Amino acid sequence: MSADHLINKLSYVKEVKPRRGHKRSWIAQCPAHDDGSPSLYIDEGQSGNTLIKCWAGCGATDVVESVGMNMSDLFPDDNYECRSRRPNKDFDYHSLHLQISDNRRKSGHKQTLEDKQSELESFMALRGSR
Ligand SMILES: [Zn+2]
Repeated sequence: MSADHLINKLSYVKEVKPRRGHKRSWIAQCPAHDDGSPSLYIDEGQSGNTLIKCWAGCGATDVVESVGMNMSDLFPDDNYECRSRRPNKDFDYHSLHLQISDNRRKSGHKQTLEDKQSELESFMALRGSR
């Protein structure tokens, strides 16, 4: 599914210059919290998956569920193959990784120390690439 489906459900959407490695990018008002100024970033990746990030700290799952969608709506069919891509300099990989971790935590999955470690690595990699 393309990002358009999600975009249509959001308010104060503004298309911005695509971020590195992405096809299209937007900022919008986050539907999951009382967002005074748009703090939700949406990116459409080259492979068609949609990445979202609320800088106020909402989980991707919260955001998606607030507009009545599921995490799986953000990805083209079976796109979890992203895991096999090069982890070190691939922005998509790290964003996706964080979303998956977030999703698993929400669904009660108990994180191992390794999970936490790799989630932190993705987080740091994303910070470093901004
Ligand atoms: Zn939010």
